[in-house]
Amino acid sequence: MAETDAPRFDYIIVGAGSAGCVLASRLTESGKHNVLLLEAGPPDRNPWIHVPLGYGKLFTNAAVNWLYSTEPNPNAVNRRVPQPRGKVLGGTSSINGMVYIRGHREDYNQWRQLGNEGWSYEDVLPYFRKSEDQARGADEYHGAGGPLGVSDVYEEHPLADAFIESAVAAGHPRNDDFNGADQTGFGYCQWTMKNGRRCSTAVGYLKPARKRANLTIATEAHALRVLFDGQRATGLEYMQHGQRKTAHASAEVILSGGAYNSPQLLQLSGVGPAGLLRKHGIEVVSDMPGVGANLRDHLNAPLMFRLSEDLSANSVINSFSVRIKTAMRYAVNRKGYLSMGVSFAQGFFKVDPSAVSPDIQSQLMLFSSPVVGGAPFPFPGATIVSALLRPESFGHVNIVSADPFEAPKIQPNYLTTQKDRDVLIGAVKMMREITGQPAFQKFIIEEHEPGPDCQTDDEILDYLHRGARTSYHPVSTCRMGSDPTAVVDARLRVHGLEGLRVADASIMPTLISGNTNAPTIMIGEKAADMVLEDAR
Ligand SMILES: Cc1cc2nc3c(=O)[nH]c(=O)nc-3n(C[C@H](O)[C@H](O)[C@H](O)COP(=O)(O)OP(=O)(O)OC[C@H]3O[C@@H](n4cnc5c(N)ncnc54)[C@H](O)[C@@H]3O)c2cc1C
Repeated sequence: MAETDAPRFDYIIVGAGSAGCVLASRLTESGKHNVLLLEAGPPDRNPWIHVPLGYGKLFTNAAVNWLYSTEPNPNAVNRRVPQPRGKVLGGTSSINGMVYIRGHREDYNQWRQLGNEGWSYEDVLPYFRKSEDQARGADEYHGAGGPLGVSDVYEEHPLADAFIESAVAAGHPRNDDFNGADQTGFGYCQWTMKNGRRCSTAVGYLKPARKRANLTIATEAHALRVLFDGQRATGLEYMQHGQRKTAHASAEVILSGGAYNSPQLLQLSGVGPAGLLRKHGIEVVSDMPGVGANLRDHLNAPLMFRLSEDLSANSVINSFSVRIKTAMRYAVNRKGYLSMGVSFAQGFFKVDPSAVSPDIQSQLMLFSSPVVGGAPFPFPGATIVSALLRPESFGHVNIVSADPFEAPKIQPNYLTTQKDRDVLIGAVKMMREITGQPAFQKFIIEEHEPGPDCQTDDEILDYLHRGARTSYHPVSTCRMGSDPTAVVDARLRVHGLEGLRVADASIMPTLISGNTNAPTIMIGEKAADMVLEDAR
């Protein structure tokens, strides 16, 4: 189709993920604006998306997952670390672990202190509340009736009780609401679910909006590049079912492709570090060294336990009779392991006493496997992962060619600073103080990873190089700010260009202290308000 005949929209949103679905829903609510939502993946019809424990089936499923992995870092964690990303309606909110965490209030106050007007905790709290349908009802911190279902665990669990009791015995406070007045302490998780089903943004936001005449959703539509007229974004070129297509945006193009794909698409479109773009034969529209830079991610230290009782989901995979019983229970009342988010209980605490807020998040998972996303151990097992919440180490994501279908190169440079190593080593030690308490020990045969031979700082560090995992929270690759490597301003407009915003996890100025889905949904909510304000 010639460009002049291409369909016209007010807004084009690239990526139907955690942020993109929020934007598509909010921008079409009034009926005044025509929106095209473009998603590289298919509709969310795979049933394992909606059954919570199904995330195990999506982790390596190329039909709904970009299946990225990092580059090895010769200085630390010298191996490829898997980086799954949702490629389906709902994006990563359709394949994630569903733990509902917003981060610490100080994260957002720091965003504001960095100069980003409108992003303090007080500013963003209304957007968290607006998005939320909290099963416990509304209060000062929580909303009810919003699109995002937030549920308590379906029932208490003996190992989770023992974990929390042991943390309290080791001197940590109990916390029944990590998203309320205070984040510190140990307690049960809440999950982004409704009635025992995953509440992705495709389910919570997009489904109710899908029939609107002013919303066009194009699935299996891969954005190739943003089109520019001078410095103004005017539309998009994309590939759908083998055909190259063009769409025009009279108001804005909004990139919500996530922390890897948004910077990739900017670079492919000529917006990024000029040297990199020229190396790959891409005409430079705007030389922006920050596009793809500043990548941060949560690395975690796993401890794995062999349990003395059958208290884990390992048996759901390993035993046919348990599988049948679990399926029946889920079919009858949507309870049991099939309706479980990735972790059951968790805690936030400080390793560095001088930290302004907890620097570690530990999560108890009621399963264990030698390889993430792989078959579980053939015995009852549990895993506790402790994530380094505010790493100093940072890396980058860059295109390796001008081919939009070639995966970008991802280098997070995990554990390259001494501080990061010290805090994560300290977390392993503090977690062992907790798991060494009688209440937890009652259920433990052994800690088999890394095991009792791993004790000194050097031994723990060696284990981290071999065994550390990611919590899958890449951010900041199109960072918001006003310094020379910032990519977007506080209204998420790409610096120096017109008609182009980025709204997803990539814009976070710093990595927040917790899981990143709820914060990205908040970003989608706030971005929608800013877009609509600017349309007036
Ligand atoms: C395995 C895993 C477990 C996780 N568990 C949790 C958890 O328990 N709790 C939590 O809070 N967070 C969790 N997260 C993180 C959280 O889900 C993400 O941070 C969040 O979903 C990111 O949202 P986003 O909008 O930035 O990107 P995404 O949700 O990834 O959305 C990007 C969308 O854009 C599409 N797209 C990309 N490029 C193109 C293109 N060129 N053309 C068209 N479409 C494109 C993608 O296919 C995708 O649908 C987890 C992540 C993973 C991978």
